[in-house]
Amino acid sequence: MILVLDSKITKDQKTRIRSLLSDDGCITREIIDAGQNLIGIIAKNKKTAADYKKMEGVVDVRSIKTSHKLVSRDFKSEDSMVKIGNVMVGGDRIVVIAGPCAVESYSQAMTIAKEVKRYGAVLFRGGAYKPRSSPYSFQGMEEEGLKILAAVREETGLGVVTEMTSPSQAALMEKYVDVVQIGARNMQNFELLKCVGKMSKPVVLKRGLASTIQEWLMSAEYIVAGGNDNVILCERGIRTFEPYTRNTLDLSAIPVLKQLTHLPILIDPSHATGIREKVSPMARAAVAAGADALMIEVHNDPDNALSDGPQSLYPEQFGELTRDLYVIAPVVGKQIDFDYLKKSEVISLLNGGGIKTAAFMGENGDYSHKASLSYFGDDLTSIPMKSYRDIFNACESGRAEYGVIPVENSLTGSIHENFDLLQEYDLKIIGEVTIRIKHALIAHKSATKNDIKTILAYPSAFAQCRNFLDQFAGEEPLAIKATSGAVRQIKKSGDITQAAIGSAMAADIFEMKVIEDSIEDNPRNFTRFAIIAKEYKGNKKVGKTSLVFSTGNKPGALFEVMKIFSRYHINLVKLESRPILGKPWEYMFYADIEADILSDALVPMMADLKDKSEVLKILGRY
Ligand code: PEP
Ligand code: MN
Repeated sequence: MILVLDSKITKDQKTRIRSLLSDDGCITREIIDAGQNLIGIIAKNKKTAADYKKMEGVVDVRSIKTSHKLVSRDFKSEDSMVKIGNVMVGGDRIVVIAGPCAVESYSQAMTIAKEVKRYGAVLFRGGAYKPRSSPYSFQGMEEEGLKILAAVREETGLGVVTEMTSPSQAALMEKYVDVVQIGARNMQNFELLKCVGKMSKPVVLKRGLASTIQEWLMSAEYIVAGGNDNVILCERGIRTFEPYTRNTLDLSAIPVLKQLTHLPILIDPSHATGIREKVSPMARAAVAAGADALMIEVHNDPDNALSDGPQSLYPEQFGELTRDLYVIAPVVGKQIDFDYLKKSEVISLLNGGGIKTAAFMGENGDYSHKASLSYFGDDLTSIPMKSYRDIFNACESGRAEYGVIPVENSLTGSIHENFDLLQEYDLKIIGEVTIRIKHALIAHKSATKNDIKTILAYPSAFAQCRNFLDQFAGEEPLAIKATSGAVRQIKKSGDITQAAIGSAMAADIFEMKVIEDSIEDNPRNFTRFAIIAKEYKGNKKVGKTSLVFSTGNKPGALFEVMKIFSRYHINLVKLESRPILGKPWEYMFYADIEADILSDALVPMMADLKDKSEVLKILGRY
């Protein structure tokens, strides 16, 4: 049952409810879901919904119809996130876990950890207790292996995941690792499930070789009912009649689970396929199907691996995969964030885990707001601003620690105003995030498409939804200032004949309805945002530099600068010219290079660049 509490419930009422439930021997879980204060209860008595409804402070009692209760969508409509150090599993960042099947030695684990970290993994995996089909196969390094995992975390900053095969290992797991894994063979080892239910570490629960989704969810329920809410479900392939792969990866489990449970979903394509070449295609498909995280086996010397060599990717293959995922993720509204660890280090350095403030242009629910949350996660206080200049002023004055500004759209090009402001102010780009711009037609909950007579939106939204609007028979669209300003406006009007174009997130925030989603003409509509701040603050590793330069107005001047990049083997990922204000037909160039321009190795290149350009300004290193 779910008790829906009064929004004005008093402390005393709550205490009374809690003590009554405890007297009744109920298992309880208090959450806030979609703005409502709820208590989920598993009643161990004969009391009915009507009995609980009589309690003061309870406004409604709902039943959970599925046999899984605390892990069900019925109980919690919002997605759960599991926090592992600074890494969040769930939400819109794809978390990549990688490492060997088993820890084989200190140098093996450390070498692979450094490689996978370089290529974007944010957690490291490695078995120390290996459940093997044959008693004669390598069984794992046991406690020695756990110590190596702890050393890997110490050295690389990667949280570590390892399998626990017996309750007797609980104390060691608590001591050495960040996440415990329940392997496929133990999915229904109920004593083990009860044991991890009492542990403080998050749990990866693998699906059994021949278990149904329902059985799997009931196993998750064991862990949560035991007191540990931090469960990640891991699909790793099920046994079917098909011999071409080691198992059959059930990717349809992703949308099925998304409907049945709020828990995050991890996909392990390595054990699912058992064959190296099959791992990357299935990993890409998993992200496209909505997985929250991936776990990939990687080995530096798979031919000599002590277990699962044939399914382990070489580090370079893993790097290629994460680059592909980086491109795929935004299509499903997610991102692979190669800055994730560095950023979370910076964030915790600054605020001891929490973030302070980021200024963005527009209103809550605007794409800039979405980008801010995507970059910083939920611990963010966002401050809406009326103009881009206001963002720069807020950062300069210290009112906001960060600013989030759009710099480039895949269909319409650069947002020059922000490049001009970057030149004018002494602020730095410290990071970037790309999100997909997916427009929705939003109206009142009671409205249908036929009711709509007027559509409000930001001018660029109109431009991007031209085909949709051409079919719209109502009045000419009305332009307004920012995307979710339109949603706010129609909400306030109460007029069901009005609709707005905006993000589905804006519809959520303003409690409105999406009448039609993805109405933009071209689905390849992405915007890249820069994160700006006064200083770099703890940014340790830089992979990219944005700069602006001008050359003399003489033949071959730009070529001379390009030659410098070429000489130092620097990859240029953006180059764009822009007229210099007040100097007709003279140009500035914006460039992004894949290097830290201030690194020691590039001191001579910097000197050459200064020599060949008239103006040279570093806009940011990130
Ligand atoms: C593993 O992750 O190394 C493992 C043994 O997985 P599974 O339990 O899925 O076979
Ligand atoms: Mn393995």
